[in-house]
Amino acid sequence: MSPSLKILFVSAEVVPFAKTGGLADIAGSLPKALAAYGHDVRVVMPRYARIQPERFGLKTILPALTVPVDDGMETASVMEARIGGDVPVYFVGLDKYFNREGIYGYPDDGERFVVFCRAILEMLKGLAWRPDVIHCHDWHTAIIPNWTKTLYRNDPFFRDVATVYTIHNLAYQGVFGFRILEIAGLDELGYVHHPETSDLNDVVDLMARGIVFADVVTTVSPRYAQEILTPEHGERLDPLLRERENRLFGVLNGVDYDEYDPAHDPYLDFNYTVDDLDRRVKNKQALQREAGLQEDPNIPLVGLISRLTDQKGFDILGAIFDHVLDLNVQFVLLGTGDQHYHSMLTRLAREHPTQLALFLTFNAPLAQKIYAGTDMFLMPSRFEPCGLGQMIAMRYGSIPIVRATGGLADTVDNYDPARETGTGFVFQRYEGHELFAALVRALENYRHRDAWRRLQQRCMRQDFSWRASAGKYVDLYWKAIEWQRIGDPRQTERALRPFSLARNP
Ligand code: ADP
Repeated sequence: MSPSLKILFVSAEVVPFAKTGGLADIAGSLPKALAAYGHDVRVVMPRYARIQPERFGLKTILPALTVPVDDGMETASVMEARIGGDVPVYFVGLDKYFNREGIYGYPDDGERFVVFCRAILEMLKGLAWRPDVIHCHDWHTAIIPNWTKTLYRNDPFFRDVATVYTIHNLAYQGVFGFRILEIAGLDELGYVHHPETSDLNDVVDLMARGIVFADVVTTVSPRYAQEILTPEHGERLDPLLRERENRLFGVLNGVDYDEYDPAHDPYLDFNYTVDDLDRRVKNKQALQREAGLQEDPNIPLVGLISRLTDQKGFDILGAIFDHVLDLNVQFVLLGTGDQHYHSMLTRLAREHPTQLALFLTFNAPLAQKIYAGTDMFLMPSRFEPCGLGQMIAMRYGSIPIVRATGGLADTVDNYDPARETGTGFVFQRYEGHELFAALVRALENYRHRDAWRRLQQRCMRQDFSWRASAGKYVDLYWKAIEWQRIGDPRQTERALRPFSLARNP
């Protein structure tokens, strides 16, 4: 067995403390899987107002930490809790920035997360715990590889620390003005510079910095890792990504099989296993009742749990929803997000109250009842870095209907009724009529109940646990350590263009 590693996970959200999407699931479950392999894994996140110390048993471990910010100082504190038995989670307390109701969406988000990250570097010294690898997630944490390769390069504490940067969604890059560099103490080094991306010449794009400076860059499915190298999915950073292609890897997200387990899920009225699907039907009935829909086991029930954003396919769904609801089908939809989708769905639910039950809220227990109570689970995404919903749905025996993009393409095989192969209903082009056809196909096949049950069993027997993917991350941590030691000339200050030059090219 290889020696164990010391790994620090840095994330803006971590289950069970704060969650808006899949990032929180990963940051809460991958560390547990790595710890089970014997690694010393610790997690750090901000202490938001919603994280009540009493509820989670938080204990103060560093009462006052001095954090450099711009030309001055802030004071942070650090508390600790444990997840999964023995994985420490550190909470950085910076009341000025995080003692607020929400997680994101503030005008000073850039400053909030840069100061959070700076506090982490000080925290590590305060704890005298030097990780082999800092694993950063999404733009909120992308400044850390930038610092370890520049400002902290000669600091003996960080000199040998490798960084891995995981892109969970390239669409959210954290783009800010020059001021953020002053706050980070990086103003003299200037902007990221690349001849093919002039868009970066006068903005601070934190995602771009993670891509340029991390020793290893990963994203959350093999297909998405390929897609983001193209202008279509590269969100203007594809030239930078292509330049680092030999350091870019796609590792499929896993699902926490302890958390998402229909046999033991505490939120379900009726627990069940793959061999006991008659019990599962009772969850459908309970869900129909809770959702105010007609209780009838024979009406196909489709679930959808999602952030309501352009990414998730609500425009093509909106275009065909009236036609879909002409069919004998019920929908339960749970989500929050953009106001215009709230309005669109509210109107549809008002017009079709017997068929569409709408919950415009974030509700984890209800989500689990939907996975367990629906026959099908819809994810018609425009793009999807990985997607957890379809994997959780399969684990619970709800058949995914998905568009073949990113992680959806990697995890769902199209159903072939003749050969009885495949795990869901897959459509290719991002168009309403293709989605409609996939839905109709699913509804047709639903009538063949014996074959449908075998399809459910096939889905439930897939293995989307962290078992395989956690091992892949360990391999990448070793690569990062090796590449950190060797160094990459493109990763130094040469990737930056000093501000004065950027201004007067
Ligand atoms: P993304 O990270 O893009 O939001 P994923 O499919 O990777 O999409 O992860 C979404 C996660 O968040 C899943 O665990 C899903 O069940 C959960 N989720 C999304 N919206 C809600 C909601 N409104 N209530 C409860 N859980 C939600």
